[in-house]
Amino acid sequence: MVRHSLKAKTNGVVSKAKPAIAVATTEVKKTAGQKRKSAPVDDHEDAATCDSCDEKENKSEDEKDVKKPATKKPRTKAAPKKADNSMPLAARTAVTSLKRAMYIGAHVSGAGGVQNSITNALQIGANSFAVFLKSQRKWSSPPLAPESKTQFHSLLKQHNYDAAKHILPHGSYLVNLAQADEVKAKQAFDNFVDDLKRCEALGIKLYNFHPGSTGGDTMEAACARIAQQLNRSHKEASTVITVIENMCGSGNVVGSRFEELRDIISGVEDKSRVGVCIDTCHAFAAGYDLRTPEAFAATMAEFDRVVGIKYLKAFHLNDSKAPFGSHRDLHANIGTGFLGLKAFHNIMNYEPFQNLPMVLETPIDEKGPNGKSVENKQIWADEIKLLESLIGQDADTPEFEEKVTELQAKGASERAKIQEQVDKKAEKDSNKGSRGAKKAATKKKKVETDDEDESD
Ligand SMILES: [Zn+2]
Ligand SMILES: [Zn+2]
Repeated sequence: MVRHSLKAKTNGVVSKAKPAIAVATTEVKKTAGQKRKSAPVDDHEDAATCDSCDEKENKSEDEKDVKKPATKKPRTKAAPKKADNSMPLAARTAVTSLKRAMYIGAHVSGAGGVQNSITNALQIGANSFAVFLKSQRKWSSPPLAPESKTQFHSLLKQHNYDAAKHILPHGSYLVNLAQADEVKAKQAFDNFVDDLKRCEALGIKLYNFHPGSTGGDTMEAACARIAQQLNRSHKEASTVITVIENMCGSGNVVGSRFEELRDIISGVEDKSRVGVCIDTCHAFAAGYDLRTPEAFAATMAEFDRVVGIKYLKAFHLNDSKAPFGSHRDLHANIGTGFLGLKAFHNIMNYEPFQNLPMVLETPIDEKGPNGKSVENKQIWADEIKLLESLIGQDADTPEFEEKVTELQAKGASERAKIQEQVDKKAEKDSNKGSRGAKKAATKKKKVETDDEDESD
């Protein structure tokens, strides 16, 4: 319900998204047969989805068409190519000018062709970025268009992005590598490998995915199945590092504990082909604190001890609208959530995090003048600059405190709202006691799906 209304909203926005900068965009035409609305419900629930990246994307062109009768001609492609994305919202910072080699960016749109992700990243001054390589909510997608690939490579060169190091595609929300059912497992595997092959064609070496869902099985069995699928996938595509994202830990979702990430990695034969992406919001909601220098150091020491810092390949930088350990996946803008600016100061000043893609998945939808939701990419452009400004900055100054307070004030009402929900739920759960464990499980699942709309 919440979910559907939000989706309708975001689709509306997406369909208005313009293709990127003065680059000829490759638009792949869809046929009616390709326009499947979504996966079967059980697959949906099974997949370890979350995410707000959702709204930003690939689905765009596809899903726009979904709403139209099959007979209707696609809207003319010439019209929308206006100035929109050609106006830089911020200049890209030369990484060499920073005190540390931090590559900060955001999860940008690849609507109209993956090559557009480069111009979209450029527009917000991103030095790294994430993108969906195909629709993240559909099982079938057209193959990578040869023109897309060509343009992607030439834009990479032109704008000096290192595809092997600083581009981190995000996998499909439908794919659950822990799936036990043979037919569904094959479908998931095929989709996964298809993405890895797209990465290879584009020269991308890091591929981020959600580990999956146990489907009610033991965590141990689920981790073993994921490792097996990774092993098989590594034989199909020989150059890509499969990067597991940590999750916030609700229901049957795999990957909220560092131990689960470790267990998956331990089953992977070629350890050079596996890594981890830490999503700061997920980690915090799962109970890993990052707020004070001491808590941050303890969390990283635990990561190193349990998983190993050498496996850390990327970051998703998100604040959290939900409190510590709440297992709610609600991304907030940097500094406005329960993590706060100091947590990001800790991250930006940690030596081992250099040269990794660090990608924002923060909300950028705002209410437009007509009441409709519109994307404001200036938010990302500003957040990138804000994060870069934290590098080497003294956090013990009145100016820094002022900034902390200012951003906290911005998120105050949202934090209070979610805190109330979390408190109410905790109260309800304790009143309920042990009555009907099954009922509780269903409820939990519901919370999960609500969260999916807002975060990634
Ligand atoms: Zn994420
Ligand atoms: Zn994600």
